[in-house]
Amino acid sequence: MMSDSVYQRCIDPACGQTYGVEEVRTACGTCGNLLDVAYDWAKLPLPKKLADFEHKWSRRHEPLEYSGVWRFRELLPFAPDDRIVTIGEGQTLLQHARDVAKYVGLTGGELHLQYEGMNPSGSFKDNGMSAAFTHAHTIGAKRAACASTGNTSASLALYCAVTKHMKAVIFIGSGKISYGKLSQALDYGALTVQIAGDFDDAMARVQEISRELGIYLVNSVNPFRLEGQKTIMYRVLEALRWEVPDWIVVPGGNLGNSSAFGKAFIELKELGLVDRLPRLAVINASGANTLYELYERRGVRWDDGKPQPAVCGYYEQLDQQSKRASTIASAIEINRPVNLNKCLRALDAMQGVVREVTDQEIMDAKAQVGAGGLGCEPASAASVAGAKQLLAEGIIGRDERVVCILTGHQLKDPTATVAYHTTDQDKFNEVLGSRGVRRASFANRAVAVNNNLNEIIQAIQLYS
Ligand SMILES: *Cc1c(COP(=O)(O)O)cnc(C)c1O
Repeated sequence: MMSDSVYQRCIDPACGQTYGVEEVRTACGTCGNLLDVAYDWAKLPLPKKLADFEHKWSRRHEPLEYSGVWRFRELLPFAPDDRIVTIGEGQTLLQHARDVAKYVGLTGGELHLQYEGMNPSGSFKDNGMSAAFTHAHTIGAKRAACASTGNTSASLALYCAVTKHMKAVIFIGSGKISYGKLSQALDYGALTVQIAGDFDDAMARVQEISRELGIYLVNSVNPFRLEGQKTIMYRVLEALRWEVPDWIVVPGGNLGNSSAFGKAFIELKELGLVDRLPRLAVINASGANTLYELYERRGVRWDDGKPQPAVCGYYEQLDQQSKRASTIASAIEINRPVNLNKCLRALDAMQGVVREVTDQEIMDAKAQVGAGGLGCEPASAASVAGAKQLLAEGIIGRDERVVCILTGHQLKDPTATVAYHTTDQDKFNEVLGSRGVRRASFANRAVAVNNNLNEIIQAIQLYS
């Protein structure tokens, strides 16, 4: 019954080619476009209103109701309950962040920070991984692979280590992965292949290799990943007592999250479970700003998923200039976002805007998040830096309700954080100066004192 009402479908409505839910594909066989997981909602049981999900709160002892992904499984009903893989993902927090609101200039409104770093592997990727894993488990896959700037590999490695359903093979670019993330993949026992190249190279290779060796691919070209990431929006709504905020602001790398958020809201609207859509802001790092270039400068828009000459032209230009992505926010250091077309659809549906922020703005915003909240990694802070820019431009209104997605945990990239707060100018220059960061406006510097009781007491009284 389930498989009658669930299938995969090309995102181009004119193509509309469909595939069975059990097929493993990363692209449409007819036109090469991305695939969606699609549902015949009329044949599926659905809640009458979003608040009906609250009934599940009393059953938190059951793993599927505890999971912040699967307690919403009526909205991603692609697998039978007994095949669902969960390790307790999605226990995340929406924090009403008053200090950070002041920093971004939201004087009359509300800023909320959605802490996806609280997931088991420390990033939002676990939402998607539990869904991709569920699909892989349903079809009996034995090995799974990903290319990663770090968090996808940490997540894949963790799900493999905990469930033992599959073995993990991860591809990382050389020298591009932060220690927090690399240490996770190694600790969890994943086969870690470091290729000479960057993320865009690793991404291209892993697709070839998965095809060649029949390894299940868990990057966000996998449409099931995005089904899991839709639930980030459900949890935001849940925390706002099912009220739709004015803005969702999210960093953009491979554009899986922004695409998933768009799909979540398009479906909720179609199902009559929300009456309006929030606006979407996707924030690039200026050293990895493909979406910004295409959407804001070259006017590229969603065209029913059709390949667009302006996009090919831009990529050719990148090749000619041998231009590589470069930003301290390594999780979004990506020049060829695989979900570009789906993201354009999300921007279209949610009256989207795209902005780019410098590494200076990212690091300052990150320090503000750390000082006024639970902290995050550099890529996540792009959302806060982007919100600040949009407020200054008057695009986000001062009295609006804004949700910034903090995609990864503060401890993912200690090198960047310590370099920002350090008194060691060489360290600062090596890690941040080389990225164009000139000053640490909100540095909290360690105080060096001699090992002497009086001097220590003096220092404490001077600085506190
Ligand atoms: C993966 C990742 C991103 C980028 O998300 P996309 O869905 O690829 O756009 C941003 N921040 C962090 C911390 C990530 O791990």
